[in-house]
Amino acid sequence: MEENTPIQTLEEACAAKGMRMTEQRRVIARVLDAATDHPDVEEVYRRAFAIDARISISTVYRTVKLFEDAGIIERHDFRDGRSRYETVSEEHHDHLIDLRSGEVIEFRSEEIEALQEMIAKRLGFRLVGHRLELYALPLTDPPKETH
Ligand SMILES: [Zn+2]
Repeated sequence: MEENTPIQTLEEACAAKGMRMTEQRRVIARVLDAATDHPDVEEVYRRAFAIDARISISTVYRTVKLFEDAGIIERHDFRDGRSRYETVSEEHHDHLIDLRSGEVIEFRSEEIEALQEMIAKRLGFRLVGHRLELYALPLTDPPKETH
């Protein structure tokens, strides 16, 4: 799996957007940068609170919304009623959601990418983006060790 390496840190992206960065916003930005698991706001709050106990959940909500509106983080809805976030990465990827564990697995398929472009073209469009989520259950139950 490709690592989610942002071109720049979230803090740098914020600075580039001319955003005023308070100490609390910096903490939240660092938490989001470090996350690889698509956390929801409450999870971001737990992590930020562990670093700076003065941070409130409403600050996290506002900051996450601010980052989202600025286009530097992406919001996902994986049908569990929670909005989840990740930093916008250079490399596009899609998600598979393990419905049993709730784990979100990132993948990229060149076949799917090409197929989507072909479908859009066939319908008379130029594809500018897409969202793809696979909802799945493990083939093995209980899961066997895989290599
Ligand atoms: Zn992702």
